[in-house]
Amino acid sequence: MSVRAHDGTPFDINVSIAIVGGGACGLTAALAARDTGRDIMLFERDRAPGGSTAMSSGMIPACGTRLQREAGIDDDTPERMAADIQARARGAADPELLDLMCRESGPAIDWLMERHGLDLELVAGPPHPGHGRQRTHAPPALDGKDLVAGLAAAAQRAGVDIVLGARVTELITDNSDRRRIAGFIVERPGGKTERVGCAALIFANSGFGGNPDLVRRHIPAIADGAYFGHEGNKGDSILWGAKLGAELRHMGAWQGHGAIAVPHGALVSWALMSGGGILINRDGDRFADEARGSSDLAPDVVAQPGGFAWAVFDTRLHELAMRFPDYRQLEELGAVRTGDDAADLARAHGVPTGALSATLAETGLQPPYCAIRVTGGLLHTQGGLAVDDKARVIDPAGKPFPNLFAGGGAACGVSGPAHWGYLSGNGLLSAVTLGRIAGREAAGITQ
Ligand SMILES: Cc1cc2nc3c(=O)[nH]c(=O)nc-3n(C[C@H](O)[C@H](O)[C@H](O)COP(=O)(O)OP(=O)(O)OC[C@H]3O[C@@H](n4cnc5c(N)ncnc54)[C@H](O)[C@@H]3O)c2cc1C
Repeated sequence: MSVRAHDGTPFDINVSIAIVGGGACGLTAALAARDTGRDIMLFERDRAPGGSTAMSSGMIPACGTRLQREAGIDDDTPERMAADIQARARGAADPELLDLMCRESGPAIDWLMERHGLDLELVAGPPHPGHGRQRTHAPPALDGKDLVAGLAAAAQRAGVDIVLGARVTELITDNSDRRRIAGFIVERPGGKTERVGCAALIFANSGFGGNPDLVRRHIPAIADGAYFGHEGNKGDSILWGAKLGAELRHMGAWQGHGAIAVPHGALVSWALMSGGGILINRDGDRFADEARGSSDLAPDVVAQPGGFAWAVFDTRLHELAMRFPDYRQLEELGAVRTGDDAADLARAHGVPTGALSATLAETGLQPPYCAIRVTGGLLHTQGGLAVDDKARVIDPAGKPFPNLFAGGGAACGVSGPAHWGYLSGNGLLSAVTLGRIAGREAAGITQ
């Protein structure tokens, strides 16, 4: 991921605004920039847009939206939302960035729905743990693939050029101003390369979860865990940013999940644990307080003997979970094992009967019991390029790079320095709000 100065050779193509990455951030940035009439090209390394966004549940927190008002929630404010996020981050999120994202969240959702026709709903039921109001907006089926499909269709209607199978490999800076991006090199399938010139560049190519070396360097606690995000997120923008002299912030921040079914490799909904389910290790011991949340517990699960645990719950929770398509699929795959009582469950899983009976006796769970074998893993990274209130990448002195923007997983988020600071929705909050700001501001400096 190198950076070199422009040698004066004309570019093969020139575009006003170029975007690297076709997840929620890139597609949202493209829509915002396209609203101003600029010509936009979005470069995505895969053969389809998607990224981690398509692997997510598509749940975006936002306050003050039309959907909230229609549901009678008229007292949610940027201040309230910021306080919830900051409480999870133990006060370590950048207050100005957080305030910006929360203020922009409601208008971004209304704009996506009203101007660009996205089909989003306010998720029914009580607020997600840690959120003081119901503010989670998502496609009706709670599927990130639908979010990507909606954004990509809107981008197509708006006339955004989406170039697929196009991996950006090298940045080219202006020869007289090394802080200004002149263009970049794109590699196409078969190894053919093109040189693209741009007036502004937006990094929407997410974090570094798919780069084991970077994960081991910055997040050693989960380096031996599973990675459950998009493989193509190799941290390219972080590597370029480091070469340009940009500030990298909170590189140890990440969203984990403490219940990934093994060997199935599918997420087990944390709603099972929030509803009273527990995690036990192979010795039958409950090793942590599940109320700490799924991200916080991921390294604890990896640290158990053998690197795994059992999520144990009862048939009441099983029936509730059968509403979720992912859970039904796990059931069909045989991941959910049952036991008539503690001894039966212990025999089925090779766990000491006495220990498991004693552990279960201290819970409110009732036989018959269910269990899924799980491990902990990394979903996505939350640290990255520091940006200002225009989503411009900045250096350690706070000085912006004049035509370089970042959002989503490429930028530092609002989850503090580690995995415990992630509040549900922080990922797409950054992708949608900073993506929209980046698109708008990039349009402001180009013609
Ligand atoms: C299983 C799972 C569940 C999640 N659930 C939620 C949730 O419900 N709510 C929430 O807020 N967050 C959730 N997240 C996190 C959320 O998905 C991410 O924070 C968010 O999708 C990031 O969006 P993005 O656009 O920045 O990156 P992505 O959606 O990952 O898109 C980045 C794109 O850039 C492309 N790319 C990378 N490098 C290059 C290159 N050099 N050239 C060209 N293209 C490149 C990639 O192929 C990728 O398509 C979840 C994550 C996972 C893995």
